[in-house]
Amino acid sequence: MLPTEEVGSEKRSMADSQVPAVAPNLDCGILRRIDTVVPGQIGVAVVIGWMLHVLDQHTVCYTKAPLRVKIFIWLAWRKRLWTGDRRQRHGLVARESCFLCDAAVETCNHILFECSFALQVWNRVFTPLGLSRPSADGCVSVLEWWQRARSAWPSSVRKGGNSLLLLVMWMLWKERNARCFRGDFATADAVVSRVVSAASEWVSAGASALGALGCTIRE
Ligand SMILES: [Zn+2]
Repeated sequence: MLPTEEVGSEKRSMADSQVPAVAPNLDCGILRRIDTVVPGQIGVAVVIGWMLHVLDQHTVCYTKAPLRVKIFIWLAWRKRLWTGDRRQRHGLVARESCFLCDAAVETCNHILFECSFALQVWNRVFTPLGLSRPSADGCVSVLEWWQRARSAWPSSVRKGGNSLLLLVMWMLWKERNARCFRGDFATADAVVSRVVSAASEWVSAGASALGALGCTIRE
């Protein structure tokens, strides 16, 4: 049986590797049907849950980034990356501690925005651009942290900031995998250099808003 997860009061089945298709105009039709089937307050909660879910998917899907990076973020958002904590839950051989800092249990949230190594990278990327790094306190998911960042940024930089945020998370995950599978260790400065290099490629591929940030990230 496929694992189930809850969205609002709704339950649905979803395979680990399944990425839901975005349906930009699903809103009215589906929401009307939901409200008809489940009237009153329960219906409102379901509708709000659906709307937030759709908005979250749009945030991921309409950010300029390679598809593999969007899939990676979607998996991270759902805590479905094969981090140490998840491997242990599934009874697989796993190193529990973080490959980046070796000082905490490895979870999706830890690797991407709680880890001391990740914070070094984030600070080196955000500070020169004048972007604030959101607090991780009480943050339950990658998407919530992302939304905190967006809400703190001026609207003029959010589009490029979205791409930058996905790019840095992707590079952190690649560094984690390099350490895990090949025993290759890079410094935070080296990871930032990779971010700068990849940012140029993404801009060339059409991520113009990322280029508009001025990408003056110091290496
Ligand atoms: Zn760590």
